[in-house]
Amino acid sequence: MEGWDQEKLFSSRVFVAGAGALGCEVAKDLAMMGVGRLIIADYDKVELSNLSRQLLFRDSDIGREKAEAAAERLRELNPHVEVESHDKDIRELGEDVYRSSDVLLSCLDNWASRRWFNSMAVSLEKPLIDGGINGFYGNVQIVIPGKTACLECQSALLIPKEERAAECTLRKRRPADLVEELRLHGLSITLREAEELFDLNIKTVYDIKYFRPEKLTERISQEVIAMLNSLKERIAPRMPAIQSVAATIAGIMATHTIQILHGDGLGPVPTSLIVYDGYHSRLSKVKIGRDQMCIVCGESEKEPIPFRFRLSSTVYELKEAVATKLGVPDPEVLYISRRLDDLLTLTEAGVSYGETLYISTSRLYEPLAIRIVRMDEGSDEETSGRLP
Ligand SMILES: [Zn+2]
Repeated sequence: MEGWDQEKLFSSRVFVAGAGALGCEVAKDLAMMGVGRLIIADYDKVELSNLSRQLLFRDSDIGREKAEAAAERLRELNPHVEVESHDKDIRELGEDVYRSSDVLLSCLDNWASRRWFNSMAVSLEKPLIDGGINGFYGNVQIVIPGKTACLECQSALLIPKEERAAECTLRKRRPADLVEELRLHGLSITLREAEELFDLNIKTVYDIKYFRPEKLTERISQEVIAMLNSLKERIAPRMPAIQSVAATIAGIMATHTIQILHGDGLGPVPTSLIVYDGYHSRLSKVKIGRDQMCIVCGESEKEPIPFRFRLSSTVYELKEAVATKLGVPDPEVLYISRRLDDLLTLTEAGVSYGETLYISTSRLYEPLAIRIVRMDEGSDEETSGRLP
């Protein structure tokens, strides 16, 4: 094929985040096409329900670490390919593994990790291809940092509201709220059980879905673990996945990975969001522009974002304002590298107007700098107008 350079592919490294329906498919494609080095990360274990859509696993793999089982099968598919596996959360891997990769592929099943991965790719200036599937629908976005829109540029339109909603307001939740929320999912627990979960800081259905016993520092009884696992299993799947749709989306991702690895040799990659509708076999491209004020890749990225706020208000109120305006659900406020207590006012914390605070959140790779400005200072365009 004109422009195809097998040597180039063989000397490339591609990082695949997630060994689920998309990750298995995309890694299989890349291994078969002879991409020389694949790195796979996933902290889950193979479950029976995975086998209908995750082609690298077999019955005998149930209970094994996904990353390791996937790596083994990929080596069988193509023994010339070197495969490295990490049984870890992508946030726990060192920067080197990302720096040494040529393309990063996001095959993750939840927005929290996708947002973090996007922010990390932009920070390290690595090309990222993000894929998502939901039933018969799927999409692919290619992020070339500094050139094309990142996942966060159009977050108000593309990232679900629940994911952007303030988690800090959830801290005011009561155990009865969790009972009610689970009831809407057709599940019932007692108030007593909800109180036990609250003690472990598990307050929402989302917390239950992403519960990992090994992450808890508190002592936890076997009964509570069993209850959590059973709830987790019965809560609707994270993102419903159909093998054929996963294969289609992964195919698009793998094709553009090959293109990026070739430089310009195989033509430029699409900069639009690619949307696939499996019901009607419709493939569309939706233009998404870069947002100059994007909190991840915007031009103001290096400069603190002006943020209008009263020093007489509390840190807690600042967190709520940040969560609402910037769409990061779990902000912590850092000032001169210490975390500020919720109940202090900014004045009590020693903050003055014009000073910079850092917002750390699980959705971003690096803390975000904001500069506190007076409520009446500057025009709308300069201050709150810059915020989404
Ligand atoms: Zn952006």
